[in-house]
Amino acid sequence: MMKRIGVLALQGGVDEHINALLNASEKVQAPVQVVEVRTAEDMEGLDGIILPGGESTTISKLMERANLFSPVLQVRKIMGTCAGAILLAKKVEGANLEQRFLSLMDISIDRNAYGSQKESFEAQLDTEFGRISGVFIRAPKITIMGSGHVRPLAFHGEEVVAAYQKSGERHYIALAFHPELTTTKFHEFFIRL
Ligand code: GLN
Repeated sequence: MMKRIGVLALQGGVDEHINALLNASEKVQAPVQVVEVRTAEDMEGLDGIILPGGESTTISKLMERANLFSPVLQVRKIMGTCAGAILLAKKVEGANLEQRFLSLMDISIDRNAYGSQKESFEAQLDTEFGRISGVFIRAPKITIMGSGHVRPLAFHGEEVVAAYQKSGERHYIALAFHPELTTTKFHEFFIRL
């Protein structure tokens, strides 16, 4: 059966994720139907959803306005990059009072740990899928909260920059950087889930 994967399309790097998903689907030879999610109706029958980067306060406000929190919470496979990773974390340092979170992953995240837009950078990362180049844009920092079902997927030096949590049927991936800009490896992993 063809998998249906949504990309939350309210703000941020939506097209890059759609392209990465389509390229990844070709590489793993698993057909994927990609759905741009703007309303609760778009969520019907999704096998997974990607929460892109952007600005987490803005994305959370737009999600509230579109009543998307409860349907997204029900999706069993979620991958969040950057702002999306912030939405997934159970603990957020530097959170804005107006922000709401999904709070699904046992990670702690420091929202603007690397500073402003000007401090954005590209770095070589050691990942489960080999060495890749990672782009960090106003990136958050991830700390795993020590629960048994979260493990690191990528490192920048000693720092964890991507984490994967499996609890029962639920699979979550949080990435501090933007894999959609340089690799399809994480999208392939997500499709295989
Ligand atoms: N730090 C930003 C935030 O709080 C996220 C940046 C990004 O997604 N590139 O939303």
